Amino acid sequence: TWDWNQNVIERNVSSSLNFTCLYNLSPTRDHPCISWGSLSKTIPILLFFPEAVVSKDGSISSVGERYNMAFKIVRTESRLVREILTNHGFHEVHPNSNDFNLMWTGSHLKPYVLRSLQDFQKVNHFPRSHELTRKDRLYKNIQRMQQTHGFKNFHIVPQTFVLPAEYQEFCNCFAKDKGPWIIKPVASSRGRGIYLVSNPNQISMTENILVSRYINNPLLIDGFKFDVRLYVLVTSYDPLLIYVYEEGLARFATVKYDRTSKNIKNTFMHLTNYSVNKKSSDYVSCDDPEVEDYGNKWSMSAVLRYLKQEGKDTTSLMKQVEDLIVKAVLSAELQIATACKTFVPHKTNCFELYGFDVLIDSNLKPWLLEVNLSPSLACDAPLDLKIKASMIADMFSLVGECIRLFMFYVSKRKKHIFQCIEFLNHQISYQYES
Ligand code: ADP
Repeated sequence: TWDWNQNVIERNVSSSLNFTCLYNLSPTRDHPCISWGSLSKTIPILLFFPEAVVSKDGSISSVGERYNMAFKIVRTESRLVREILTNHGFHEVHPNSNDFNLMWTGSHLKPYVLRSLQDFQKVNHFPRSHELTRKDRLYKNIQRMQQTHGFKNFHIVPQTFVLPAEYQEFCNCFAKDKGPWIIKPVASSRGRGIYLVSNPNQISMTENILVSRYINNPLLIDGFKFDVRLYVLVTSYDPLLIYVYEEGLARFATVKYDRTSKNIKNTFMHLTNYSVNKKSSDYVSCDDPEVEDYGNKWSMSAVLRYLKQEGKDTTSLMKQVEDLIVKAVLSAELQIATACKTFVPHKTNCFELYGFDVLIDSNLKPWLLEVNLSPSLACDAPLDLKIKASMIADMFSLVGECIRLFMFYVSKRKKHIFQCIEFLNHQISYQYES
């Protein structure tokens, strides 16, 4: 089901900077975790292996030691990140230390921290990423793209109003579309503070909130609603480089879906967040990492296999998902690239892993619900560990963490892991306009 990605890669490889020569990187005989770009034998590229989480292989752990690599973790738990880096021989330094190659933080970075970065240092956030990850900012940026590039080209999010500012506009819209509508705090996560309404007077206006049109025809599997978490890595905003991880997680509701409004208050039916549904006595977890289509959390590829068997066009679905990801990132590109120019001293200092939440409706149209800053790397089930450890290992390989100099490459280890949707600057927006 992923053949189309191969085309995307090849198309971009041939049209891009120096991907062609970096493309076939593979471990050297010298060390399993080191690759030398074919351009130069002076720049080692470190390869990361998910196996490091479970086995303490000496040859893997010697790589970080050989180059004296150091990392620090600030304001986040991130056990998985710590384990992968430590088991590759990276040394952990105190959160206040400036002596690091990699900083992994759970929150935005202050301008003075960014300004002090040296060329060999990397941090896992771009400045102004909240243009994507705050629900109200994301909607406003996409709305602006709808106005400038055509509504239908950017019809990727449900119609949304920011209250109290747009209360009147919402009431006018409500007169035509009775909903239901879904209410969300502007800067919250994990389903907190979310509820459905069928009338504006059910809205409590104690804080800034978003009111979005509720997608009431979700695609169901065995009668249950689900959404998909995709992992998207941006390694540069200028030029824009986006990678989509080939695997994701589908999270299922715990109560069968019913379109009638009598169950409007049942969060176990309407919200698909793991943090909500794990509280339900009906939540089913799966203990076998090889079984990917059982219980309330499936791998995305298991969902795609299921849908394909049902006769659904999953190739077209995933093309639309890719399109939605690119468009969402484009909508915030200018602000983030400008902030990078202002605050970030070196082009290779920042990278970011975003968690995209996508809901598919019964017409097989994907909708972007939100983009998460610091997506959860918790591994409550074996399937989480299997997917997230590979994803994190590949992310670090891709980010090209190495001594003093960094290069980008696409891993070709077992199979293509991060799929490259790389393109040069604004090429894509012309495409959408035509
Ligand atoms: P949070 O950041 O709190 O998780 P989300 O925007 O992801 O907020 O919404 C939580 C859940 O609510 C989603 O996983 C999805 O199941 C449901 N949901 C959110 N928005 C919509 C919508 N417009 N239509 C249908 N379901 C939605």
